Amino acid sequence: MRLALFDDSRLGVVTEDGVVDVTAVLGSRHEDDPVTAGWWRGLCRDFVALRPELEAAAKAGTPVPLAAAHLRAPALNPSKIIACASNYAEHVTEMHEVQERTLGRVEDWMMSFDVFLKAPSALSGPGEDIVLPREVVAAGQEIHHESELVVVIGTGGRDIALADALDHVLGYTVGLDITVRAAADRSRRKSYDTFAPVGPWVTTADEVGDPAGLEIELVRDGADGTSERRQHVHTRDMITPVPAIVSYASRLMTLLPGDLIFTGAPPGVGPITAGDVLRARIDRLGSMTLGVVDG
Ligand code: MN
Repeated sequence: MRLALFDDSRLGVVTEDGVVDVTAVLGSRHEDDPVTAGWWRGLCRDFVALRPELEAAAKAGTPVPLAAAHLRAPALNPSKIIACASNYAEHVTEMHEVQERTLGRVEDWMMSFDVFLKAPSALSGPGEDIVLPREVVAAGQEIHHESELVVVIGTGGRDIALADALDHVLGYTVGLDITVRAAADRSRRKSYDTFAPVGPWVTTADEVGDPAGLEIELVRDGADGTSERRQHVHTRDMITPVPAIVSYASRLMTLLPGDLIFTGAPPGVGPITAGDVLRARIDRLGSMTLGVVDG
């Protein structure tokens, strides 16, 4: 099943003919105000129980063509966005050169797998622009794309065993971990507004199958008319695969329903500038196209 958030806090199921509004299934649990809404997290936790009703509503409803629906980030009020560092060997290798160029040195501690946090307020939807902060551009610092498989947590937990890890995953979506290359904490460099676009929807785990069986691709169309496939990787090449990421992260902090986990940058990171258009795609999860603008 493909779960979408669209228009003003509407819950949708994406079918071949468009998105069907299934908000009514939530009854009084639904809340229009995104600030007070906990219903998305409740849906992530209770999805297995709600699924039959969602399927029935999707079948009975009238699809709105995707072109006529305003898709939002398929995440609402997550308690946290966890993200992985150094999870593809070729990316770790390229970061030596990137750090020499942008920091003037190589930070060895950044070259090992670990997790860190991005601010949930950095989330943006699959059709929204990435806004480059004025002071960062003025300082001449590079801002990079990292196109990543994103895990959406269903039932949360702590100290999750490796063997049970995928039972805690609701599904997957496409995400860009937008990053300033500078000498500052990751949480500062990766948390500007619009630095966590995700979408176009959550594809539930049963439809995705093995999360180590997906291709990730990012194409940058430059304002100068050039087009370049910057990133192209297979998720089987992750140093720490998805079940191990979930288990590891749950030993550091309790995973709550609706939390997002960015699983790490593929090789091919590079600078973005105003006027660029980024097209990110992952097998079976869909694609999103994002403009880049100056703030
Ligand atoms: Mn990243």
